[in-house]
Amino acid sequence: MEAMEQAKRIKPAARMEGLPTQFFAKLVAKANAQIAKGKDVINLGQGNPDQPTPPHIVDKLKEAADNPLYHKYPPFSGYLFLKQAVAQRYREDYGVELDPATEVAILFGGKTGLVEISQCLLNPGDICLVPDPGYPDYWSGVALAGGEMAFMPLLEKNGYLPDFSAIDPAVADKAKLMFMNYPNNPTGAVAGPEFYEEAVAYAVKHNIVLASDFAYGAIGYDGRKQVSFLETPGAKEVGVEFYTLSKTYNMAGWRVGFALGNADVIGMINLIQDHYYCSLFGGIQEAAALALTGPQQCVEELAARYERRRDALFTALDRIGWKAERPGGSFFCWLPVPEGYTSEQFADKLLLEADVVVAPGVGFGVHGEGYVRLGLLSDEARLTEAVERIGKLGLFGS
Ligand code: PLP
Repeated sequence: MEAMEQAKRIKPAARMEGLPTQFFAKLVAKANAQIAKGKDVINLGQGNPDQPTPPHIVDKLKEAADNPLYHKYPPFSGYLFLKQAVAQRYREDYGVELDPATEVAILFGGKTGLVEISQCLLNPGDICLVPDPGYPDYWSGVALAGGEMAFMPLLEKNGYLPDFSAIDPAVADKAKLMFMNYPNNPTGAVAGPEFYEEAVAYAVKHNIVLASDFAYGAIGYDGRKQVSFLETPGAKEVGVEFYTLSKTYNMAGWRVGFALGNADVIGMINLIQDHYYCSLFGGIQEAAALALTGPQQCVEELAARYERRRDALFTALDRIGWKAERPGGSFFCWLPVPEGYTSEQFADKLLLEADVVVAPGVGFGVHGEGYVRLGLLSDEARLTEAVERIGKLGLFGS
């Protein structure tokens, strides 16, 4: 009892109260409640890769775990060999040259860097341009920094790219940072070189730092190779890209990511990290380096697997009359909600009446309303079954 009284007297800092609520925690709780009732729930609502890490990478970790060097503290900002490995991958995949010593920071997953960059650049009240709908971790970093968000609507009619001409120039002049994310979560949209050229010109004009979130860079469909922001002339002068091994090599649990590009920003990220952590376990760094420099066939196979799933899903969607655009990248499908429902009402209906979990679009921002997001993280049979169950509700005029 006394302990409870004591706990009540411990007041969190205002910073904690300013953190955005975790919309998707509610979704997980609702799904778990159905599972607890013994329902066979098909969960298409989350973004956790379902396949294991390729065995050659796991084997390297096992071997490296025996190396006594790695039992000591790693260098603060991580081993140079890992920075060289990611620089090599960028050279081979995108023709981008990076100085491993000054233009690469090692992160505990992309998520960490996406939160840190706001803390590095934003003073309280500074504006950050954020895509809507978008990945909610951008909001977390801005909130922790005490910054303000100005949302850039991503609309279907613009291919889910932000329309820079629609941003109030006074807001743009006050903005210090902008997030962009292609292949996009949640819409599955992709960006070409022209978009990044426009973004760089806009960033130069308004003195904005660009943060390109390239978490799904390895996943392209129909023969499409995704474009890195860093391929754009002038990109390194105005921004950084965030890359992660989570999706490319099914290594979400390993927590390995990178910030790459502008040396000043990379220096700031390394500095803030010197205060938060010592880098990743050395064995993980060695296995991560092998992932990047070893055989890349596993990456091709991964993209092909998601493409087969996408095609199976859309064949089934077609059959029930649910019309939507196929994604060009990422493992997400962005589907319109039938009339008469909000995205949350519709997701609840699918969970309660079809035992299928989808993510309501509104959880990604107000412009996500009217859509739900489905992940391609189950095999073709499960995806097809999910759509068949939804079809039985008779909501689409097939
Ligand atoms: N960016 C986007 C758009 C994502 O969807 C994710 C993960 O789901 C991440 C970044 C972060 O990935 P990680 O922290 O595993 O590197």
